[in-house]
Amino acid sequence: MIRILVAALSLASCAAVLVAAQAPPPITIRAGRLLDGRGGARQDVVITIRDGKIVGAGPSSGAVTHDLSKYTVLPGFIDTHVHLLWHFGPDGRFVAGGEPREDRVKAGIANARLTVEHGFTTVQSVGEAGDLDLRKALDEQRLPGPRILTSVRQINERTGGRGNPSGIATPDQLRAAIRDAKTAGADLIKLFASASIRDGGKQTMSDEQLQAACGEANTLGLRTLVHAHSPESIRAAVNAGCTTIEHGNFATAEVLTLMAAKGTYFDPNVGLVLQNYLEHKAQYLGIGNYTEEGFAAMEKAVPMVVEMFRRAVKTPNLKIVYGTDAVAGAHGRNVEEAVVRVRDGGQAPMDAIVSMTSRSAESMRMQDRIGAIAAGLDADLVAVDGDPIADITALRKVVFVMKGGAVVKKP
Ligand SMILES: [Zn+2]
Repeated sequence: MIRILVAALSLASCAAVLVAAQAPPPITIRAGRLLDGRGGARQDVVITIRDGKIVGAGPSSGAVTHDLSKYTVLPGFIDTHVHLLWHFGPDGRFVAGGEPREDRVKAGIANARLTVEHGFTTVQSVGEAGDLDLRKALDEQRLPGPRILTSVRQINERTGGRGNPSGIATPDQLRAAIRDAKTAGADLIKLFASASIRDGGKQTMSDEQLQAACGEANTLGLRTLVHAHSPESIRAAVNAGCTTIEHGNFATAEVLTLMAAKGTYFDPNVGLVLQNYLEHKAQYLGIGNYTEEGFAAMEKAVPMVVEMFRRAVKTPNLKIVYGTDAVAGAHGRNVEEAVVRVRDGGQAPMDAIVSMTSRSAESMRMQDRIGAIAAGLDADLVAVDGDPIADITALRKVVFVMKGGAVVKKP
């Protein structure tokens, strides 16, 4: 009996030795400059990666797997507000829906590739059911693309209220709609508390509706991203305990201070979405609310939102996250938001970088997985040619991308 036990034990320890001998060597990356995503900066550092995770970063000499000593290495960028499936059709016009599912997913695959190759390893799509098909297609076909979180659908003042004489949903109907979204696979809830900027941006969900929707989501442990432009709609959403305010084009000093006081995240979109619509006007005009009037409103909003952002940056303790609202024509140009925030909006370059990495990760409750170069986190890394602290436009020159330890792009 003892002999058998000894034999079994030695077999087990042999197996352990064998496993250790066969474990692949770690991946190492030499960074000329490292920005850790939490505000730290270091020179000449080697990052060690094992099993897709960062083991550590420190001074080291010798050979490395990837020599990025000419570049600045940062955590993979995060965009908390995109529409990966929005695209232009074969005729060059915006496709508002109603196309075969395969065509939409195919367009999404192309947009996902553009997005990740420009440094964005995680995005939040806010969102449509097709996002689930896209995520599945990327996984199954092992195609390059960012990690995708999706709201699967969008909820407004009428969601679940179709049978009511007014069409307006009751608080109970909205609570049911939130539960349905969770069942459908939503990672987060997207709400419309105000009209579009093209329609004036006034509050559309009542205070009571917002309390019901965000209250139910909080009970279920789901985050709420709330489209809100007018100060009234922002105030109502913040007071209802919603997680993040999107856009906020008409945000006043008062509601910016309220967001800061309540710890509500703020995702202003000042550098890409409006500019992109104006650049691609002919491709959108005449579809839905993309009217001449709508375009006039957006043109007027461009300098106004930059002014709003300048106030936001000066608001103490306001947690500004990084979302671009990337739509058709904007995919792959997500860093333009940072360029405008810094160049025109007065944000410090390091703050812009923290916003697009660890702060956005925290707003998605994923700070233990992504958003920083730190031990234990996923190896999502980006290298850019230049120093973005000296010149934020260096973020445009992405030369290397790694997602979860796998190389997506290299010099
Ligand atoms: Zn959007």
